[in-house]
Amino acid sequence: MALTAMEVYKNLPKTNCKDCGLPTCMAFAMQVAAKQKALTDCPHLSDEAKEKFAESSAPPMKLIHIGPEGEKGVELGQETVMFRHEEKFYKPPALAVKIPSSLSDEDAAARLNQINDAVFTRVGDEVAVRMAAVEIDGLSADAAAARVKALSENSRVPFVIMGQDPEAMAAAAGAVAAHKPLIYKATEENAEAFVKIAVENKCPRAVGAETLEKLADLTNMAKEQGAEDLILAFDGRKTVRTIRDITMARRAALNKNFRPLGFPAMVDVSLDASTKETVLAGTFVAKYAGIIIINGVDGAELLPIMTAIQNIYTDPQVPNTVEAKLYEVGEVNENSPVLFTTNFSLTYFCVEAEVERSKVPSYISVADTEGLGVLNAYAGDKLSAEDVVKTLAEQKVAEKVNHHKLIIPGLLPSFRAEIEDTSEWKEVLIGPENATGIPTFLAENWK
Ligand code: SF4
Repeated sequence: MALTAMEVYKNLPKTNCKDCGLPTCMAFAMQVAAKQKALTDCPHLSDEAKEKFAESSAPPMKLIHIGPEGEKGVELGQETVMFRHEEKFYKPPALAVKIPSSLSDEDAAARLNQINDAVFTRVGDEVAVRMAAVEIDGLSADAAAARVKALSENSRVPFVIMGQDPEAMAAAAGAVAAHKPLIYKATEENAEAFVKIAVENKCPRAVGAETLEKLADLTNMAKEQGAEDLILAFDGRKTVRTIRDITMARRAALNKNFRPLGFPAMVDVSLDASTKETVLAGTFVAKYAGIIIINGVDGAELLPIMTAIQNIYTDPQVPNTVEAKLYEVGEVNENSPVLFTTNFSLTYFCVEAEVERSKVPSYISVADTEGLGVLNAYAGDKLSAEDVVKTLAEQKVAEKVNHHKLIIPGLLPSFRAEIEDTSEWKEVLIGPENATGIPTFLAENWK
C-alpha cells in the first residue's frame, strides 16, 4: 500500500541534515510518498524503520544507471504514471544506434564517430544519440573484448553490448566494466551465465522472455542472485504484441506495485527500412521504452524521433518559455527590422530560425505571455496592443533603431491601428501568419 508523506516523516530522524540532497526531512518524505525517492536514500534511517518500510517505500519502477556517473551516463526508471497528463514522464528514452559485429574495426570506428557527432540543437535544447549498441555476436571472446575496448576509448556515449554467447559477453563486459555497459540480453537459455557476468562486473543487464510470466521468473531469479539492476527487453519489431506486453508490465509495476516487472523497458526496432524504423521508434517513445535500439544514424531519421522525445517528455504543467527580452539575430544595426512575438519557446525558435534563414539581421522583441503562443495569448487575454507598446518601451527598442517600423505577427492584424495611434511605432507592418513566411516577407518588405 502507498505510504503517505506523514507516515514516512514520522519515521525519519527529523534533523534536516540535507544529506539526502533535500533541504528538510519533510521534503524528503514528500518525495518518498511521490515515489521519487527510496526511503533508503536517507543515510541516517534507523534499522527499525528500514525493516518496517523496506518493500512499501521503494519506487515501483527501479532507477537504473548505465555508463559513467554524471552527464555521460544514462538514467532510466522511477516513472510514476501511465499517462503523461496525469503528472509527467521523467526519464527521456535513450536512442542506441547499433554497431553491427559484421563491420570491420575501421568501419565500426567510423560508425562510432557518426554516433559521437549525432548532436543537434532543437528549440534551444541539445538533443543527441545517447548510447551505442555494440553487437558482438559472431566474434570470438578475444575479438569481442578488443572491439568494445577500442571503441570505448573514443566514445561520447555508454554502451549496450549485444550478444548471446556467455564467453564472448564475459570477455567484452570485463574489458569495459569500468564504463558500466548494459549487457543485452539475458534469456532463459543463458540466464545463469549472464547473471554471473553482471554480478562480477557490476553491470546492469537486460532480460527478455517469450511471455511476461517467464520474464517475471527471470527477474526474480536475478534478484535472488544479487543482480538487481535490470532492464526489461522487448522485440519492438513485433509491434502490436510488444505494445501490449510493455503496457501490461508498466501497469503491473505502477498500479499493482508488482516488483518483478518494476524495471524500465527497452526495445530493439533496428530495421534496414529507415522510414519504418523511425515510425516504430516514435511509437515506443510514446509507449514506455527507456532505450530504443535503431540502425539509423542519419539526421533525417534521428530528428523526428528526438522531436517526439522532446514533445512527450516535457512537463505538461510547465509552459515552455524563453526569456522575455529583445533578441538580436545576426549583425544588427540601426536600420534592422524589428519583429514582435511571444515567449512560447516553440514560437520564438521558429521565428528566430526563419529570421536566420532570411539572412536579414533583425531584432526580435519577445513579450511575456506566460509561455502562450500568439493566438492563445490573444484569446486568453495575455496579449493586447497595449502590452505590445509596453513591452517595446520596457525593452527600449526605439533607441536601437532609426526608424519607426514594427513587424507584428500576421495573426494580430487588429493591433495595428492602436499601436500606431498610441506609440512612436508609426508604421506597423502585418507580418506573415506563419513563421515560414518571414524570409519572403522580409525580402519583399525590407529593402
Ligand atoms: Fe532528514 Fe535523512 Fe534527509 Fe537528513 S538525510 S534531511 S535526516 S531525510
